[in-house]
Amino acid sequence: MELKENNVEPKVSANIIYKKGLVIAGPCSAETEQQVLHTASELAHTGKVDVLRAGIWKPRTNPGGFEGIGTKALSWLSKAKQLTGLKTAVEVATSKHVEDAISFDVDILWIGARTTVNPFSVQQIADALKDTKQTVLIKNPVNPDIKLWIGAVERLQKVGIENIGLIHRGFTSYGNTEYRNVPMWQIPIEMKRLYPDLPIICDPSHICGNRTGLLSIAQKSVDLDFDGLIIESHYDPDTALTDKNQQLSPQDLNVLLGKLIYKKSNTNEEGFVKQLEHLREQINHLDEELISLISTRMKVAKDIGEIKKNSKITVLQANRYNEILERAIKKGTEVGLSEEFIKSYLESIHIESIRIQNNIA
Ligand code: PEP
Ligand code: MN
Repeated sequence: MELKENNVEPKVSANIIYKKGLVIAGPCSAETEQQVLHTASELAHTGKVDVLRAGIWKPRTNPGGFEGIGTKALSWLSKAKQLTGLKTAVEVATSKHVEDAISFDVDILWIGARTTVNPFSVQQIADALKDTKQTVLIKNPVNPDIKLWIGAVERLQKVGIENIGLIHRGFTSYGNTEYRNVPMWQIPIEMKRLYPDLPIICDPSHICGNRTGLLSIAQKSVDLDFDGLIIESHYDPDTALTDKNQQLSPQDLNVLLGKLIYKKSNTNEEGFVKQLEHLREQINHLDEELISLISTRMKVAKDIGEIKKNSKITVLQANRYNEILERAIKKGTEVGLSEEFIKSYLESIHIESIRIQNNIA
């Protein structure tokens, strides 16, 4: 006789977005059924991918580009899920997208960077999600305005969405050539601080805009204790209709994922703790020395201020400041400090010494 369990609900497995080391991968855009199925099967074959991503509706910055296959491609994703067991994720930008994606059982919806900037669009999506149990990832807005990112989280929370995650994909900056979208890590780090319970994953593809930088950005996100990655992958990247320069073949993605080094975020190993304590003590020591050196420097500045006052010379003398700056940048570069750092460091020192000189009675 079959034993009946007393009607206990099977335990719902935790939502995939909470998996540490989550990997979402797939083409920038779904292009053909064959492309989606081929890519999905190679990604599943790596054994390292959890979710298949694909853009169905493509927000392009300029008109005339490939704008996505639309709703028709949702059935390709369902088929890919059936064949590979991978979960699926698509970008949504309107309430219609939300309804269509839900009707095809897409597991994860994400809000793109060009949508997060617009509270009207985010609200429209939130309204369409009300009373659903959808899982939603929110990309940072294209511009470095953390309030818009927070606003999008709040709009979804307000309609009762419980499973929300964040995607860091970098920020637009005029004239930057190294990155397609500069990472500005301090912004996602601040989001982690504000929302410690929301998983945050990194999108190196849209940060880099090329293949060469992907590993170092992915590693940096791992080092900063991000929870996972979303990376664009196409079975034949060079023929991709969108973002072809940044997509990796599933094989290359497999290699990249294999190279990532996961450091333990905390360990009690005795050697490690001792070493860390020792190094932290050095830092404390050096900081004390720096502060006392700065204070000596301020005393000299004060003396200069006295002389200037007696000779009735203005406190701020632009030429002298430029000279100091140039010398410091030269010295700094020799010892491996960036020009940007030296500039902001000297600026603070300068402001403080002017304050002290102006205070001379
Ligand atoms: C994408 O993921 O393909 C995309 C359009 O990204 P983003 O919204 O970050 O530009
Ligand atoms: Mn893309």
